[in-house]
Amino acid sequence: MPDFAKRMNVLGVEGAFIVLAKAKELERQGRSIVHMEIGQPDFPTPKHIIEAAKKALDSGMTSYTPSTGIYELREAVAEYVSKSRGTDISPDEVVITVGAKLAIFGALMAFVDPGDEVIIPAPAYPSYDSVTMFVGGKPVHVPLREERKFSPSGEEIAETVTEKTKVIVINTPCNPTGGVYTREDLKAIVEVAQEKDLLIVSDEIYDEIVFDGKKHESILSIPGARERTVLIGGFSKTWSMTGWRLGWAVAPKEITDKIAKIQLNTTSCPVHFVQVAAVEAIRGPQDDVRRMVQEYQERRDLIFDGLNSIPGFSMIKPAATFYAFPNVKKLGVKSSELADMILNEAGVALLPGTAFGPEGEGYLRLSFATSKDMIKEGLKRIKEFVEERFPNV
Ligand code: PLP
Repeated sequence: MPDFAKRMNVLGVEGAFIVLAKAKELERQGRSIVHMEIGQPDFPTPKHIIEAAKKALDSGMTSYTPSTGIYELREAVAEYVSKSRGTDISPDEVVITVGAKLAIFGALMAFVDPGDEVIIPAPAYPSYDSVTMFVGGKPVHVPLREERKFSPSGEEIAETVTEKTKVIVINTPCNPTGGVYTREDLKAIVEVAQEKDLLIVSDEIYDEIVFDGKKHESILSIPGARERTVLIGGFSKTWSMTGWRLGWAVAPKEITDKIAKIQLNTTSCPVHFVQVAAVEAIRGPQDDVRRMVQEYQERRDLIFDGLNSIPGFSMIKPAATFYAFPNVKKLGVKSSELADMILNEAGVALLPGTAFGPEGEGYLRLSFATSKDMIKEGLKRIKEFVEERFPNV
């Protein structure tokens, strides 16, 4: 067998999947594990969307579609993004992708040449680094700081730009911090991008899971952003459709054409009947979405109070998403060691902050996309573990 291509050496594996495998092995050995590692809604996909998929299957919507996605769904996404961002998007500026992941891959693949630098505020969703390196680019991190509520500093981003910088990837609401970027910081990012002629990739997949009656702040609503931004969104989180594998990119047509071309050469197109059902997700009733967001908010309150009452743990309240990102620096143990100890000794699967880059050292990420009972049990186990193992904290 010949050697694998060198690019395989830089392709990463998501920490959540590694921890899940470890946790599953412990379960196989008979251990009880509370799962807080995976960022996957625990609700079923709303019924009316499932019904729409069944109907689409029965009426024969089982063929290839254009690589950009079906027109009706592009139109629905264009309307949704136009309304929520206060801008005017046409269906030509939308490409439907196999998960938001393929939209991220397509955007970076279309712009990053070997040696190009990609600025990524971090801790960050691991795909950004992994895909950047896969295409020969160099990820350059700008730290997201707790004291800035994990919103990046425009100044720091500007200082990080070099001759080689081509793209800034942002993610708000943010996985793993649960924070949102402020409008001022978004404006500063647009200014830098305009001045240095950079592309912005804005992953806003958690745009609907925002708490306390607040509205999502999108970079697309800032003048000057639209012509240089690829907005990433999708169905996985808002409509609890992770396994349906459907997302989108919104960008100027010359960019969506390139992403569609990459899709054509990889998956051809997203699944036909899934796209038809997704029109119902966007245009149908949104009661289930509101109910799920309300439930996430109640769980957020539960986990925020619970983690803050554990010695050595402190955290700011997540403004959005279903992730808690507590600071555990006071325990004086490396995040990865602590996460392993909590899994092996307390039976709670969670992620070290370093699964999202070295900037995550001193933090853990817990997903609260699980029931309140599970959250309570997880909190109880972690508290008992910390009190026993770190009695002097
Ligand atoms: N972007 C972020 C920030 C995510 O957290 C995730 C999933 O965890 C994705 C993208 C991938 O979404 P999809 O399931 O649509 O590929």
